[in-house]
Amino acid sequence: MTFTLAIVGRPNVGKSTLFNRLVGRRLALVDDQPGVTRDLREGEAKLFGLRFTVIDTAGLEEVTDDSLQGRMRRLTERAVDMADVSLFLIDGRVGVTPTDQVLADLLRRKGARVILGVNKAEGRAGEDGALEAWSLGLGEPLRLSAEHGEGMEDLYAVLAPLA
Ligand code: GDP
Ligand code: MG
Repeated sequence: MTFTLAIVGRPNVGKSTLFNRLVGRRLALVDDQPGVTRDLREGEAKLFGLRFTVIDTAGLEEVTDDSLQGRMRRLTERAVDMADVSLFLIDGRVGVTPTDQVLADLLRRKGARVILGVNKAEGRAGEDGALEAWSLGLGEPLRLSAEHGEGMEDLYAVLAPLA
């Protein structure tokens, strides 16, 4: 028995960095629906002893601003529907943005099971962002650094009971 985790959030918050940290070279497959290839990447994650499937919502980076919102919502919904639990990432150095709020509303309306991650929070960075993140109404923010590997024990602690 295992579970599927979707990493969601607006562009540039560090979703792919975390995906790559969790998956390493064990990248399994890409989405094969026409026109959305590369938009959702799936891999086999390993976090300490825990193994699970992880989905990265990629394919948002090349999109122009006017089409981004709709595309991001559709992709996020698809990823969340495929997953047992979603990790919603924000950038702790930037704080909560209007786009973060749009996605948080979407996740709340869907009744998705969500872990709130405040990324780029290495060292003491992201402390203010983490306080602000409470306003998203998605529970306790988890401070993470995908790039430096900080907060991975806390992520493990919330995911382990799902395995
Ligand atoms: P995505 O668009 O959400 O997939 O974001 P990426 O994973 O491509 O990361 C966007 C930028 O943020 C890159 O320049 C990363 O190096 C940087 N980044 C990702 N995670 C961290 C982190 O934990 N700390 C810092 N300082 N930068 C990060
Ligand atoms: Mg990415």
